[in-house]
Amino acid sequence: MTSSGHKIKVVCRVRPFLKTEKTDDAVVAESNNVLRVTNPRDSSKDVKFQFDACYGPAIGQEPIYKNDVRPLVETIFNGMSATVFCYGVTGAGKTHTIQGSDTEPGIIPRALEHIFMHQERDAFDYDIRISYFEIYKEAVFDLLKSRDSSTTGLPIREDANRRIFVAGLSKKQVTSFEQFDSLYQKACRNRRTASTKLNNHSSRSHAILTVQVQWKDDISEGKVWNGRLHLIDLAGSEDNRRTENGRDRMAESSAINRSLFVLGQVVEALNIGAARIPYRDSKMTRILQDSLGGDSLGMMIVNVSPGEAFLQDTHNTLSFATKSR
Ligand code: ADP
Ligand code: MG
Repeated sequence: MTSSGHKIKVVCRVRPFLKTEKTDDAVVAESNNVLRVTNPRDSSKDVKFQFDACYGPAIGQEPIYKNDVRPLVETIFNGMSATVFCYGVTGAGKTHTIQGSDTEPGIIPRALEHIFMHQERDAFDYDIRISYFEIYKEAVFDLLKSRDSSTTGLPIREDANRRIFVAGLSKKQVTSFEQFDSLYQKACRNRRTASTKLNNHSSRSHAILTVQVQWKDDISEGKVWNGRLHLIDLAGSEDNRRTENGRDRMAESSAINRSLFVLGQVVEALNIGAARIPYRDSKMTRILQDSLGGDSLGMMIVNVSPGEAFLQDTHNTLSFATKSR
């Protein structure tokens, strides 16, 4: 449980204005956990949203990792599962937050460095494996393999212990950060290539990186421990129906809207302690089922843009996010 009693923390991040954008103060991080969104016609109708934490545009990658993500990553060394999602419309800063750039590394490289630091420091012999896949129109594609137009989605199965897994998904062992990074860069290229071929779908798919850490405990008779971390760049939450049409886009939009809706429902159900959690209602929540709920910790980072131009998107994003809290 987090300090506020939620199993899945919800934190907000406002990105800075880009050089090409007109600056205003429509969306402001007012304090450590309150975001104010302006009503351009009547400031008395400004709306405030409360989060577990709120990061304004001046806050860089490091404090977010240190304050919110690091403690979650630590739990995998107790044999637990942890999940971080970035939610928001295209352009709001999800990829910057979860992946970052060479000069401003985001959560993925920081988490992996942190995990390899454990490997060097601890007495245990950690077996670290990664998988990386995307879910596009409710189909699962392996990003550690290159794919062509004939590649079809991987099936989801349940094993004898009733654990859910993606059949045929590659899991690659990595023994150093450098080895991880070269695999990951290659996978990102796979994602971009597929994206270009398929009408730029990368902002319309969910990308899920899983790091599994396994080790044997000599003290308790060789018990095998298993920690798992999922780092997820979600599909853009914009309502594509507003700006685009065509049958393909509609199918895409409804798959995205539906899976994000189900994710919101799962997070909300976990946070209110509901008896029934609707994991089975989407591929992503089904795959993550064993890592959400129980003792697992999770965090949703809600990315928003600062300007008035995005107010409608921002309101949609925030009302989704505060419902989940
Ligand atoms: P998304 O993945 O949500 O579509 P991006 O992460 O690609 O959005 O961000 C859109 C643009 O804003 C990119 O040019 C990115 O570098 C920039 N950006 C996003 N968040 C930040 C931030 N916190 N600091 C600096 N630049 C950012
Ligand atoms: Mg992105």
